[in-house]
Parts: sequence; C-alpha cells; structure tokens
Amino acid sequence: MQIVILGAGQAAASMAAKLRALGHQGGITVIGDEPIPPYQRPPLSKAYLLGKMPLARLTLRGPEWWAEQDIRLLTDTTGFSIDRQARQVQTSAGAVPYDQLALTLGARPRRLPPGMGGDLAGLHAIRNLADIDRLRPELQAGRDLVVIGGGYIGLEAAAVARMLGLRVTLIESAPRILARVAAPETAAMIRKLHESHGVTICESTALTRIEGSQRVEGVRLADGRLLAADLAILGIGVDPETEVAAQAGLRIENGIACDSHGRTSDPAIWAAGDCASFPWQGQRMRLESVGNAIDMAELVAENMLGGGRDYQPKPWFWSDQYDAKLQIAGLGHGHDRIVTRPGDGAHGGSVWYFREGQLLAVDALNDARAYMVGKRLIEAGRSPDAERVADASVPVKDLLA
Ligand code: NAP
Repeated sequence: MQIVILGAGQAAASMAAKLRALGHQGGITVIGDEPIPPYQRPPLSKAYLLGKMPLARLTLRGPEWWAEQDIRLLTDTTGFSIDRQARQVQTSAGAVPYDQLALTLGARPRRLPPGMGGDLAGLHAIRNLADIDRLRPELQAGRDLVVIGGGYIGLEAAAVARMLGLRVTLIESAPRILARVAAPETAAMIRKLHESHGVTICESTALTRIEGSQRVEGVRLADGRLLAADLAILGIGVDPETEVAAQAGLRIENGIACDSHGRTSDPAIWAAGDCASFPWQGQRMRLESVGNAIDMAELVAENMLGGGRDYQPKPWFWSDQYDAKLQIAGLGHGHDRIVTRPGDGAHGGSVWYFREGQLLAVDALNDARAYMVGKRLIEAGRSPDAERVADASVPVKDLLA
C-alpha cells in the first residue's frame, strides 16, 4: 500500500514515524513546499528567534533518519492538486500515486486586507523558518517595533524583541490580549509580565493601515494616532490550509472536515493537525497546537492501517515569554466559573476553569505543579472542589485526593 502525506510539518513527521512503528512496510512519501525536512515550529517565535537554538536542533529528524526508514521525502515541492479518480497527487515534481492520502497542510497566517500596507518591507509574519530568517536580522537594539495582535505569536515575539533591546508596542483590537484562548485573569497576568519588561500594550486598539513608502515607517491607529515603527510583526491569527482539499471537492467546515477517525469525505483521504476539523463533544473542533498535530497524526496512522479508534484530543499548550512559562491543560470554552490560585513569586499563579462544577482547563504561569495536578484531574475526568482550589493553604497536590 502506497501512503502519501501532503504537507511536511510536525503532523507529517509524526504520522510517517508512527506508520513505520506500526509495521507498515509499503511506500511512504512525504511532500512539502519548504526546502528542509520537517522541523518544530514552536521555537520559531521563542528560542530560535532569540538566536539560542541552532537549525540542527529545530529539525525533527536528520536526513539519515528518512533514508533509514525508507521514507521518500520530497522537499521544495509546490503546485499541489489531487486527482481523486486517478488517486494521484499532482506536484511540481510530477504525479505521485497513492492508495491512502493524508493531508497535513497546516495553516497560513492571516494577512492585512489590500490597501492597508500589508506588502511593505519591514512587515513580518511568523510561521516558517524563512519568515524568521528574514525577521531576525531586523531585530536590532534601539529600534521601534509595533506588534499587531495580542495572541501567542504577538506576545512571544514581543518578549524576544524586548530581550534583544527593541522598544515594543503591542496593539490588540479586542478589549484584551489572549481573548480567543484564555480568561481575563490569565490575560491580566501576562499583561503585567510584559508591562514589567517595558512593553506598551494597547488593547481595544484597531489598526487603520501601515504607513510607509517602501518600507514600514509607522502604524496608523483608528483613533488617528501614528505609532513610529522601524518594523512591525503581524500576528493576527491563522487560517487552515484548505485550498487543495476544496479544489478536490472534499468537505470543508472550519478546516478540512474529518470524521472521528480522521477520515475526510473521501474514504481514501485523511487529514490531521491545524488544517483538520473533527467532531468532539457535539461540536466540530479544530485545534491549532503541536500536541494536536502529533496526537491526531498518530491516530490517523493507526486508522489508515485498519484501526478504528475515535479521536479524543487531550489539549495542552505552553508559551515561553521572558523567563516565564505559561502551561495550559484542557480547553476553557464554555466555562461558567473561574477560580484563581496564587503561585510563588511576582509573576505566577494558576487559573482554573469550571462548568457546572466540572473542571475544564487550567492555565498555570510559572506553576508547574498546578499544571500537572490540573492536567491529571482533567484527563481522569475528575474535578476538585472549587473552594479548595482557591484556598492557598491547601497544598496543590492535595487536590488530587
Ligand atoms: P491568535 O491566537 O488567533 O491571536 C491573534 C490575535 O490578534 C487575536 O487576539 C486577534 O483578535 C488579534 N487581531 C486580529 N486582527 C487584528 C488587528 N487588525 N489588529 C490588532 N489585533 C488583531 O493567533 P496568533 O497569535 O497569530 O498565532 C497563530 C497560531 O500559532 C495560533 O494557532 C496560535 O495558537 C499558534 N501559536 C501557539 C503558540 C503557543 O501555543 N505557545 C505560540 C505561537 C503561536 P480577534 O480574536 O479579536 O480577531
């Protein structure tokens, strides 16, 4: 059986490794548009951007691994389309036949609408290695940086830029940073952390356009103010990469729509990672995280080889900003109660999300114990008493009892 994996990021690497680990002896071809083998994306906005991680540590597996595993890796390959009748993927490297095809195409950063200065030099996205290799030489001490978007990309980039000595202003159009992914209590801890490092955070602040003739000179806000900028970073979210799937006539619904096994509307085609949506707890979900890319890819590998397992995501995330670590277990959507618990030190503590007494998620800043306890409770479907969570005199480990 010939298996083709289209898109060569984390999900592709995890899926290919799992297929071999499960004993698949047929052909595996992984096809991607970037020039190097699959690499980790999380360090791109953290250690790699800071210059503290070499490229060799970023790649997930060295070139020898792909050869040893007898996996054909086509890098630098573009122009994808799927011929479902012929069971072939068309690419710039020619046609590649498949028996089973997996789409692990990821997501692409949102851009500014036309006419807003989105094509000026000095405006950067953070998604690929090429983005970072363009951005890093521009992060010079003393320059003015405006970060647009207060999600993880924007906040992590702001932290790196401050550590490198730039002056940083971050604008967020919503009433607060991290509005899509975290409670106000978590956002407040993160805002305080950034303000203590000298970042100016402007919430409820919309952008009108990026000003400049050839390159970024300033950022014009909706209230008329002009923020001086030598460069800007755009971190306003991502859209799932669905174009190839849509052109092939696959069902699209908040990403490439899969069933609970990871199969798309064509039984010979599967999807995993940022590009894929799946049914979970009565809703259609899509998770943008490396944990989901790994877990869903491994599940698809298993199911491609005849397994019949449903996907049960165990969401977890982390973010490094300055010397602080934010760790998140579970998904807080739909909570009706938030309980906070102080941590040690100036920037630390945890935020616990409940719905009808059921623990949904925990955000822990510099509090690895609260994260571990929360994660274990969530994975076991158990809920501590909210009053005991809030009581700092109760040791966090006792919440497991
Ligand atoms: P994100 O989490 O969707 O955050 C983007 C933020 O920008 C949102 O708060 C958004 O507000 C805001 N925004 C949108 N348009 C804006 C505008 N015109 N002006 C100012 N603000 C605007 O996405 P991201 O931070 O770009 O990250 C991209 C992806 O990488 C996400 O999947 C993220 O989870 C992932 N990532 C994860 C980590 C981690 O887990 N540590 C680190 C880096 C990246 P609205 O919601 O109101 O649109």
